[in-house]
Amino acid sequence: MRDLRKDYVLDKFVLVPSSSSVPDAEEKPDKCPYCPGNESLTPPALLALVVQDGMLQRLSDSEDSVVEDWSVRVFDSKAPVVTTAAAASYSEKPLYSEPAYGYHQVVVATPDHKQTLPQMSVEQWSNVLVVIQDRVRWLYTQKGVTYVSIYVNSGQSAGSKVVHPHLDMVTFSSIPPTIELEAEGFHRFMNENGKCPACNMISVESSGPRQILATDSFLSICPWAPTYSYEYWIYPKRHVTSFSKITQKEISDLALMLRATLGGMSKALKDAPFNLVFHLSPEKKNSRQIHWHIEVYPQMSAWSGLERGFGVYVNNVRPEKAAEVLGSACRKELAGLVGIT
Ligand SMILES: [Zn+2]
Ligand SMILES: [Zn+2]
Ligand SMILES: [Zn+2]
Repeated sequence: MRDLRKDYVLDKFVLVPSSSSVPDAEEKPDKCPYCPGNESLTPPALLALVVQDGMLQRLSDSEDSVVEDWSVRVFDSKAPVVTTAAAASYSEKPLYSEPAYGYHQVVVATPDHKQTLPQMSVEQWSNVLVVIQDRVRWLYTQKGVTYVSIYVNSGQSAGSKVVHPHLDMVTFSSIPPTIELEAEGFHRFMNENGKCPACNMISVESSGPRQILATDSFLSICPWAPTYSYEYWIYPKRHVTSFSKITQKEISDLALMLRATLGGMSKALKDAPFNLVFHLSPEKKNSRQIHWHIEVYPQMSAWSGLERGFGVYVNNVRPEKAAEVLGSACRKELAGLVGIT
């Protein structure tokens, strides 16, 4: 179990082990716990997506039976950073602490251990997105869930402990600092300009030097001021604040965009480790909204004191150059996926 501590001054979230908790034993199973056949090594599936005759079935494990032949499988993390069993221990500023309350679920993206997220089929990506949307909707109906964070750690230096392709979903009872900052920025821009800053950015960046790819409903670009080399973002072209509201058609289109850009990126950057995050609006009433999107951060170089100590980022690749490199790799990937040579 962990406590969520905040800094003396800043609204920074730090999850530290609670005084009562025993440190997690470094479990190193010789079998991959996420592979089919090893389901007993994980908690029961909360959702197992099974594809039968082209139809998606949403099943779950029961006490005496495990769903087999799944396409995507979701269960509670065995090493959660937040838990619903958190003890109610609070303390006030300057030593602010609250229980790290929430759900931490793992989404195994494919039964195939050897595949990587950038290699997975478009159809499989679509299945994963259907499952994520299902989970996001469910999690937001739960007590104490103010925010659902969805992310990928791919590669050891990006924080991944299990090789088998998967995503993590972690909920918080308050809004994480980065989302709070974005939401504040969106709110300020809306007030000053009467329009959404992301919709504005999309019209500025469309067909410009930083565009990577455009599909029917999505646009991917290297941002004007990227934190990481080759960082890119995927935005829905229409103004949508919540991922739970996107349609099946948009899910299929997003699956194509994700597969084409991740595939292109991993070829262009020689399988560099990366993180991928979903930035969604908090779904609480009256909370400030953002135009939802995905951000991908390749991990090409280590941070220096400037990044760590001052929040000033030195980027050695111009985003215009990054977009050129990613754009050509991703367009090639897309052509291969949709069968144009
Ligand atoms: Zn595996
Ligand atoms: Zn917008
Ligand atoms: Zn963002």
